[in-house]
Amino acid sequence: MFIPFETAKEAFAEFNINLTEKQFEAFSLYAEFLREYNEKVNLTAITEPEEILVKHFLDSVIPLSYTEFESGFTLLDIGTGAGFPGLPMAIMHPELKLTLMDANGKKITFLTELTEKLRKVIPLDVKIIKARAEDFARGELRGSFDIVTARAVAGLEILAEYAMPYVKIGGVFLAPKGGSESYEDGASMVEELGGDLADFVEYNLNGDLRRLFVIEKIDITPKKYPRSNAVIKKAKK
Ligand code: SAM
Repeated sequence: MFIPFETAKEAFAEFNINLTEKQFEAFSLYAEFLREYNEKVNLTAITEPEEILVKHFLDSVIPLSYTEFESGFTLLDIGTGAGFPGLPMAIMHPELKLTLMDANGKKITFLTELTEKLRKVIPLDVKIIKARAEDFARGELRGSFDIVTARAVAGLEILAEYAMPYVKIGGVFLAPKGGSESYEDGASMVEELGGDLADFVEYNLNGDLRRLFVIEKIDITPKKYPRSNAVIKKAKK
């Protein structure tokens, strides 16, 4: 077994999140498959069960507690890697319509196999796209998501350029961050892209300071964004 159900339930309850046995079963399967797959393909440095619970699963699901959404909302997770934070969010909210995006083919293969297994335990509405976010934002997905999120992909300034084009007006870009990043690092770019800081939350996750920027889309993103990867990187220097 991954860890005892009661241990996981208590950890989630500290953040006022109710974990059911069914969800726990899905997380156990996720953790086991992640650990097994990680022996042949490098997906994560976090491999101890308690750490997977806190630093991957709990850290992924906490941000949704600070967001208001309706049933059937659409969520895009950019640079999802081994599925974080989008897939744990969908395990907690199976009514969510999730799109996972990553540029790396090995991660996409892992996610395809993982979601097939998870579907046997819990209903999931998940699409998986292999693409760089900045290359894919001019098609039908532009301006179409209620929530766009990304964890550990880039600093706020670059991340906003990846994420904001996909958010619909009135939707949010949820940016979970470590304690060292401030909103000022990306504020002018967020505003240029049509965003506005709606909420800022700080919380302690087992001794680690975490920050969450909830950025509302109040205006359309100018057509010139996102720029190509080379131009984004050059502009940052
Ligand atoms: N979000 C996951 C997490 O928190 O564990 C993975 C983080 S990992 C450090 C960064 C991931 O972002 C990698 O899987 C990489 O392939 C992906 N990535 C980086 N830049 C990207 C881009 N512009 N578009 C799509 N995926 C990107």
